[in-house]
Amino acid sequence: MKFSDIYGHQDVKTKLINSATSGRVAHAQLFTSKEGTLSLPLAIAYAQFLSCTDKQIDDSCGLCGSCRKYALLAHPDLHFTFPFYGDSKTSSSDFITEFRAAVINNPMISVGDWVESIKGEGKNLNINTFEIRSIFRRLALRAYESEYKILIIWLPEFLKKEGNILLKLVEEPPDNTVFIFVTENENEILPTIISRTQILKIPNYSQVEIEDYLIKNELVNNAIIARNVALMAEGNLNKAVKLTSGVESPIFEDFRAWLLNCYNGKMENIFEFTDKLSEGGKDYFKIFLTYGLHIIRATMVSAHQAEKDWLTPNENEFVKKLSKFIHIENVQQIYNAFNNSIYETERYGNVKLIYINLSLKLKNSMKPMSEPKVMQTN
Ligand SMILES: [Zn+2]
Repeated sequence: MKFSDIYGHQDVKTKLINSATSGRVAHAQLFTSKEGTLSLPLAIAYAQFLSCTDKQIDDSCGLCGSCRKYALLAHPDLHFTFPFYGDSKTSSSDFITEFRAAVINNPMISVGDWVESIKGEGKNLNINTFEIRSIFRRLALRAYESEYKILIIWLPEFLKKEGNILLKLVEEPPDNTVFIFVTENENEILPTIISRTQILKIPNYSQVEIEDYLIKNELVNNAIIARNVALMAEGNLNKAVKLTSGVESPIFEDFRAWLLNCYNGKMENIFEFTDKLSEGGKDYFKIFLTYGLHIIRATMVSAHQAEKDWLTPNENEFVKKLSKFIHIENVQQIYNAFNNSIYETERYGNVKLIYINLSLKLKNSMKPMSEPKVMQTN
């Protein structure tokens, strides 16, 4: 993976390239960012650059023997540690083929995508002691082909007490070893590890960058939809790309019809409709709920602002009507219900049941605003 394969982040790339070319390569680095900011591909591109035998001014060559092995994530001096599931004798190497394929297939990969690709739903993912021991073994060897042995630890937040064992290695690393920790949740990493790393913060993508990406890659065909999706994605490029598969489908029609059913409150209609929606599976459900949050947020500003330029005319019309039933008295409750449903979908995945529960909550919560109390004047 070359730096040029990664969208945006020019400042970060320049910083990494400068550190490599000036020989100031810290042996333990922490790339910290939110999900969907492409921090894993940046770590890989950086490692590839460090190993490239024909470095260009602003990127690896992509052609040398080292770069060709990196393209398959199969360079003998490139090591990965990542969360997985299994017994106490399982390690990352048992999943390395799946990991390479998943990252090459979608470099923006989220932990949710990873869980899905190894069928790890409902299983307890971690980085276990056995894995840490195997890191010691792997890094004790000489570098085969490169100047550096590089270990990329993707999602070190999955290290629990095992982090303390790793600490010893980070404190006294074997020669020419570079650790790159790539976290999406810095708060969950052992402070003792953080304190021994050089920290690189990778910013979220801006709304404008996401819009630009969607349009340049022809993932959406007009600027309003691009803005719509970029707002929903909240800086997460992976999410934005996934959302594009929903916004131009009948998602708006589905969402409007579903809310109407919930409001009318006829149970047989709610059941029938949730049956239909469940057919779209978990991916559609997540897009559907994210879209729902987006529309609900719009109702919150509706009273003050007539037309929202990030909504289509149909959506604007709908939001105006909806804000009579979702308003200051119930919006927080409804918003939380949507968020909880997204959380439950990630973990339990019984889409139909979650649809029904959410529908019932909406049935009970959506109502006109209560009449203003008449003030007593005497
Ligand atoms: Zn090269």
